Amino acid sequence: MSETMKQYIEEAEKALLHTYNRYQIVLDKGDGVYLYDLDGKKYLDFVSGIAVFALGYNNKEYNDALKAQIDKLLHTSNYYYNVPAIEAAKKIKEASGMDRVFFTNSGAEAVEGALKAARKYHYNKTGKADGEIIAMNHSFHGRTFGALSVTGNPHYREAFEPMIGNVKFADINDYDSVEACVTDKTCAIILETVQGEGGIFPATEEFLTKVRKLCDEKDILLILDEIQCGMGRTGYMYAWQKFGIKPDIMTTAKALGCGVPVGAFLMTEKVGANSLVAGDHGTTYGGNPFACAAVGKVLDLFKQDNIIENVKVVAPYLEKRLDELKDEYDFIIDRRGAGLMQGLVFNRPVSEIINKALEKGLILINAGAEIIRFVPPLIITKENVDDMIDILRSCLESV
Ligand SMILES: *Cc1c(COP(=O)(O)O)cnc(C)c1O
Repeated sequence: MSETMKQYIEEAEKALLHTYNRYQIVLDKGDGVYLYDLDGKKYLDFVSGIAVFALGYNNKEYNDALKAQIDKLLHTSNYYYNVPAIEAAKKIKEASGMDRVFFTNSGAEAVEGALKAARKYHYNKTGKADGEIIAMNHSFHGRTFGALSVTGNPHYREAFEPMIGNVKFADINDYDSVEACVTDKTCAIILETVQGEGGIFPATEEFLTKVRKLCDEKDILLILDEIQCGMGRTGYMYAWQKFGIKPDIMTTAKALGCGVPVGAFLMTEKVGANSLVAGDHGTTYGGNPFACAAVGKVLDLFKQDNIIENVKVVAPYLEKRLDELKDEYDFIIDRRGAGLMQGLVFNRPVSEIINKALEKGLILINAGAEIIRFVPPLIITKENVDDMIDILRSCLESV
């Protein structure tokens, strides 16, 4: 490592709050599926900023759209209309089939909004502010208080109690555990269509169908968190679109802006007409012209560059190559996921393997201590998969 890079890392550790155990590299620039550190070392990136940079780095059309918007108008208040937000809202409605959009600055904020909409719906319906929410164990919805309150990892919540309250936890793909939590106060069930941080657990069609039916029968709102698994990652624009069901509220972020911080929560007309109204919710930056120029361009490029078609071609190949590794090494015990959101499950911690891969120019990340997560840019090719597997295998040989 160069002196310059070492110095920057030292400065970072003096100035930044230490809420991450960071890998010892300073990233400098990106191009396509590759990242470069300050020393010019090249890395094949199978993380994409955690499922963010779907279109790859340094996409010219995307960059040009942002530059043009910078020269025009960066920000206005939500008290006024702006064209990029209107265009982005139309496009995301079309991509999702939802009816109403609220833009946020992050995923956690999208979850906050979704929870508020559900509580308000319940309040309007019953006249009582006592709505209960059912969330899943092993879920991850973000670090703010509302989102943390529905995050099924007690370790993340413990020091920050009390949470928002009236939240119960069930198990994904265990319908009975969900049903057992339902009372006449239940106003929403929130889950990730494919659990991400908690270990890459896809919800099954059977489970989702039953939960949807339960929600219909009891007028409970189904909130699907598509922040990580959405935006084409599973081979569908939104992962739930594979299953012939539809949420009442959904959240999206991460790849929505492909690098510009933006998220959104969306709802059906039924929820829109019976929940949040003027004065109930707001944001200064959310949906500003700059962020929405990014969203609009991202959604255009998904179509133009056949991003989802590429996922459909490359994902089965990634699955096949990962399955080969699983069969080859007895310390790899499972491979699970959907599309280009895959987890390789080990019977031991994976941090050493990830560090070794980094040394060899491959960026990987974990999802829990014993799972390597693969969430590459959606533009990767089979050759990129082969390169990744070659490096990973060389790291596994010494395990
Ligand atoms: C990352 C993530 C969030 C939180 O998004 P932030 O932008 O980090 O606040 C919420 N839900 C899921 C499923 C996520 O993967």
